[in-house]
Amino acid sequence: MSEKGKVFLVGAGPGERKLSTLRAKELIEQCDVLVYDNLANPELRKWRKSECLEVDVGKSPGRHTVEQREIEKTLIQHASTGKMVVRLKGGDPFVFGRCAEEMLALDDAGIAYELVPGVTAALACAGYAGLPLSHRECGSTISFLTGHEDLNKEELRVDFSKFAQVGGTLCIYMGMSKLEEIVDKLLEGGISPDVPAAVVSNGTLPTQRKVISPLNALVTAAKDAGLQAPAIVFIGNAIGRTGENANWFENRPLFGRKIVLTRSVGQVSTFKEKLELLGADVMELPLIKILPSEDKELIAEVFAGIATYEWAVFTSVNGAREFMRLFFLAYGDIRSFGPMRLACVGEGTAKVFRDHCLEVELIPEKSTAEDLAKELVASDSLDSANVLVVTGNRNREMLVQMLEDIGHAIVDTLPIYETDFEDVANAADFDKFCSNGADAIIFTSSSTALSFVEQEEDLKLSDEACKPLLCSFGPETSKTLEENQLPVDLECDHPGIDNMIQKLVEHFSK
Ligand code: SAH
Repeated sequence: MSEKGKVFLVGAGPGERKLSTLRAKELIEQCDVLVYDNLANPELRKWRKSECLEVDVGKSPGRHTVEQREIEKTLIQHASTGKMVVRLKGGDPFVFGRCAEEMLALDDAGIAYELVPGVTAALACAGYAGLPLSHRECGSTISFLTGHEDLNKEELRVDFSKFAQVGGTLCIYMGMSKLEEIVDKLLEGGISPDVPAAVVSNGTLPTQRKVISPLNALVTAAKDAGLQAPAIVFIGNAIGRTGENANWFENRPLFGRKIVLTRSVGQVSTFKEKLELLGADVMELPLIKILPSEDKELIAEVFAGIATYEWAVFTSVNGAREFMRLFFLAYGDIRSFGPMRLACVGEGTAKVFRDHCLEVELIPEKSTAEDLAKELVASDSLDSANVLVVTGNRNREMLVQMLEDIGHAIVDTLPIYETDFEDVANAADFDKFCSNGADAIIFTSSSTALSFVEQEEDLKLSDEACKPLLCSFGPETSKTLEENQLPVDLECDHPGIDNMIQKLVEHFSK
């Protein structure tokens, strides 16, 4: 059946993007219109196709929440013009999500819909805070309650004094603005003042915070810790039944550390993912952009003579990727690659070729252009050999010179891409960085460092912002930073993502 003209009411999960469902991801990838509010993690929206229309129905500063009826109208309007619409809701659509109203409105308009459940905040927060919701001995029921269903409604909807008698575990959504009143009502109803209780705010995100305390001290503990919505309040004996490793999520080595990556868009995903798995709050501030080379004639010439090279030398992942892209454009068949041997500056670059089942003959022990040149010379295979050096527009002179002067090779250079400075003010995380700062900013190359220097004025941090450690991938990058009066706080022994991560972990676990 066609998905056109249909609305999908989709649970986005609690925050962490990997806690959304496969079905949610698939629908976001396919839809024509994506209607979302603030609880849905913005990362999920990146899955949409480029022509997908986004409609924000959440609150933003200076604007009130879009009225429920307006949301319903928006869904109907787009679906009736034949569009596939995804209505993305935080957590699960049926848990305090006003989903029933949207379903009725769609029914009235004769529009088909489907529902996709999501991981609701109570379950996710409990798991990520290590608080069991049930226990064989002391927790046989679990209740989901709401403090208020509507921000504008003053009074509590639920008679909490009655829930004092229910026992089991109470999970209270939207309870923060009325926390004191809720606790008083429960105590009035006869609940034990020292029953274990907790508040978890921003659950599953790198900004997760929590307090655990006996119920009668919960209000003060939450206030002292400055916990704010969105938060879930848990009350019940089961949540106290945990062991010493229950705080697994917040105990990860980079938990909550704000780390800035400065590589170009599209280059950061493995790095970002690895940092996130260790708990980091990763910000992207691309300082460089990679542009394909314009010299079509030279490219055509090199590919026409590809069979004549004895070595092809690659100094970056970008160069390797772009080379393979152009190779397949020119030939469309791996068998035309020829017998040339491959030398790559590091494992990341080599992987591009290995992914095509091509063997890489030489990777220097230290991932620098100089070591690459030295080891090639030492291989004793350069004398009068045709060598192709594939690079960007920066830092290639020394490498070529060594191959020619010391190795006596005949070198052709193919500048296959250009690195240019990216305007940092365009970065999605630019405002967040300027107002909050970060714990660390990572420079992967001299070009990212130079771009930073050039744009330092624009990158002024506010007075309260955290001043980041300056981290460098290697000696070349450090030199560039230091020449510009930017002292390096952390430097990798060998350039590489894993080495940088190890340095960060060592530093932050001190
Ligand atoms: N449908 C959503 C709930 C919407 S009501 C779900 O199933 O999770 C909004 C309330 O959900 C917030 O006020 C807060 O109580 C809770 N909430 C949502 N995301 C949360 C998060 N990441 N951490 C803590 N509480 C969260």
